[in-house]
Amino acid sequence: MSKEPVRVGIIGCGNIGADHVDRVANQVSGSRVTALFDVDTARAQELARHVGAVALATASEVINHPEVDAIIIASPGEFHASLTLECIAVGKPVLCEKPLAPTVKECEEVVAAEQSAGRRLVQVGFMRRNDVGYRHMKENLDAGHIGDALLLHCEHRNPDVPDSFTSEMSMTDSVIHEIDTARWLLGEEIVRVRVISGKQTPNAAAHLNDPQLVILESESGVLISVEVFVNAKYGYDVRCEIVGSNGVTSLGSQDLGQYVSNVQRNVTMPGNWRIRFGDAYRAEIQDWINGVHADEPRGASAFDGLCATAVAQAAVRAVQSGQPVDVPKPNKPAFYA
Ligand code: NAP
Repeated sequence: MSKEPVRVGIIGCGNIGADHVDRVANQVSGSRVTALFDVDTARAQELARHVGAVALATASEVINHPEVDAIIIASPGEFHASLTLECIAVGKPVLCEKPLAPTVKECEEVVAAEQSAGRRLVQVGFMRRNDVGYRHMKENLDAGHIGDALLLHCEHRNPDVPDSFTSEMSMTDSVIHEIDTARWLLGEEIVRVRVISGKQTPNAAAHLNDPQLVILESESGVLISVEVFVNAKYGYDVRCEIVGSNGVTSLGSQDLGQYVSNVQRNVTMPGNWRIRFGDAYRAEIQDWINGVHADEPRGASAFDGLCATAVAQAAVRAVQSGQPVDVPKPNKPAFYA
């Protein structure tokens, strides 16, 4: 691939799609946005005007456009698999937002198609792998500083969610990040999941279990606790700690600045995921662009996307049944070694 800027087409211009448009156009190097699609035509046209791109009438036109080298998919999850398959069919690299697909079957189709194409083209948008704090934790664990990982504690708190948000979506939209992070940090698959809900916040819709406690078990027996609390009110707060045989490594609540006055310390924290993970998204997009330039896969693969969906779907069944659910150990193709 030449060192000309990678010409990126973006499908889906909502919350994260619009942010990615700005990142590709203005915040990272070696790329520009050339084509956009959204079912909301006016939204796509407005964004396209800002970045000097064209707004096209269909997603397929973006994928097939001669001035599009690589694609970002940021449409709702139900469209991810079919769009990713189209990108593979024309041999263009694709960064697909999480989830790779809502069902294991669709993820398997993507993994099979990518292997048939004979080339890694798919990256899944698990941007926590690009977060500096998580990367330090992984480096500390991999360097042996804390011995063997025994326990992993995660907290995932959002200030609030719309009334349409369900207990199952806490697994597929929120905890799926911890699922990928746990697999990546530990370098192991997750084999069992259970979900417990106890005393509930009065701030959640009646149909939503909130908070919920998710207990995941890795193949070597590491227990992973995930508190998911999507109406925590006070801010967006993501924490993580690995307890090892000789020490701990952790990621604290994020501090955006503070002041001390009247014998009190006041700390400003992120109000939402955009602020908390802004640097990680930027690093993710830069890494993806660099990977496209180098024709070298980076970040979470389609196989990682498949494994994350398999665990998230098991967690959905655990929410519904109240019972532990086993996750079949996936067969990792040599292609993804
Ligand atoms: P959103 O705000 O609803 O944006 C989705 C956009 O896609 C909307 O403009 C929607 O238009 C449009 N759309 C609907 N159907 C489409 C189709 N068939 N083809 C193309 N565009 C279509 O959702 P979002 O919050 O940006 O989430 C989008 C995806 O990113 C989801 O899969 C989500 O899980 C993921 N995400 C990931 C992260 C992360 O941390 N990695 C964070 C946020 C979101 P209408 O509004 O008119 O339907």
